[in-house]
Amino acid sequence: MPKRTVRDLDVSGKKALVRVDFNVPQTPDGGVADDRRIQSALPTLREILDRGGSLILVSHLGRPTGDPVADRPFRMDRVAARLQELIGRPVVKVDDTVGPLAAAACGALKKGGIVVLENVRFNKGEKKGDVGFAKQLAALADCYVNDAFGTCHRDEASMVAVPEQFPPEKRAIGFLVEKELQILETLLSAPRHPYVAVMGGAKVSDKISVIENLSKQVDKLLIGGAMTYTFLKARGIPVGKSKVEADKLDVAKGLLDRVGNKLVLPVDHLVASKPEAGAETKIVGAAEIPDGWFGMDIGPATIANYSTIISQAGTVVWNGPMGMFEVEEFAAGTRAIAQALADSRAVTAVGGGESAEAVEKFGLADRVSHVSTGGGAFLESLEGKSFNSLKVIPDL
Ligand code: ADP
Ligand code: MG
Repeated sequence: MPKRTVRDLDVSGKKALVRVDFNVPQTPDGGVADDRRIQSALPTLREILDRGGSLILVSHLGRPTGDPVADRPFRMDRVAARLQELIGRPVVKVDDTVGPLAAAACGALKKGGIVVLENVRFNKGEKKGDVGFAKQLAALADCYVNDAFGTCHRDEASMVAVPEQFPPEKRAIGFLVEKELQILETLLSAPRHPYVAVMGGAKVSDKISVIENLSKQVDKLLIGGAMTYTFLKARGIPVGKSKVEADKLDVAKGLLDRVGNKLVLPVDHLVASKPEAGAETKIVGAAEIPDGWFGMDIGPATIANYSTIISQAGTVVWNGPMGMFEVEEFAAGTRAIAQALADSRAVTAVGGGESAEAVEKFGLADRVSHVSTGGGAFLESLEGKSFNSLKVIPDL
């Protein structure tokens, strides 16, 4: 069911509390290293301003410890300054999230004005989902918008208890969350077939539930990345010194038994003498990883095979790099899969922290249908979980 969006909200002359995800990557001195998360919120923010509303923005940033000195880099000042540049209007940064300072700044807010509150995780009540804290935050505004997809899998106060303080008709999702939910609906309920999932990354243990749940829908599940070697080992195939989760061999066996008919494993590997730049490398067959060598990437025959399958797909979802792409010698598989998605006419969705980073790094983010802004939230959605933060937003 589609949710009420900011389009359905009466914002004219109103103060909208927007839970954004301004948890941007930071430079060592606390600057904004990458402002994509701020940019992605702009459509929702502009919609509210254009329709005569004003904005109270709240987000977390980093992992504050509670020590004011150590937490300095996690204050929202630099984020607020970057937002002001991007949106081209004055932005007032308040040094508290609730309390008299926040109340004064929000009280003085005029039509078209923008307030950025202090890092919401500076308050102990946030992580605990504390209702008292939520009431204080909600009292600052007339309505609530959730545009923080990356935090939707968390039951923190600003995600659940805060919207609960508003009448249902004053709660909505923003455009960013709307777009994420639309693509998830396609992936989970209405995919065009052939439907192909590409799964890689560091650990099979992180992805078991995703593989289980997606295998109900997909026609093929292409495996790459380090999880390959846990599957191979589970089949009794030698994997040299490749990364294996020794305690997950049973789980891998179980998956092979249950959904093995859909799983496609690499037919060759790029192996290296050591798992780092400058290593000696060679290509070996599926079951030919030599003793003492590390499986670091899928090989060229696998790349060709997977690229063909992707080119014939109607829908493709990709999570997890095909190799240790951060090292150039081991990046070819991940780059080729990113390219195959970019070249495909299928609906193509990429999610997961490093997977999204990889498509950005290869300059292909604009050529896939969707790059999810939520690593954990995207994966948990693919596992079939639903979130309290979205249950509290009424359906249309
Ligand atoms: P995502 O964040 O997209 O969900 P993961 O966190 O599961 O992806 O895994 C990403 C990491 O997996 C990358 O940093 C990459 O270096 C690592 N990785 C992938 N393949 C291998 C491999 N063969 N050996 C070691 N590490 C690998
Ligand atoms: Mg990751």
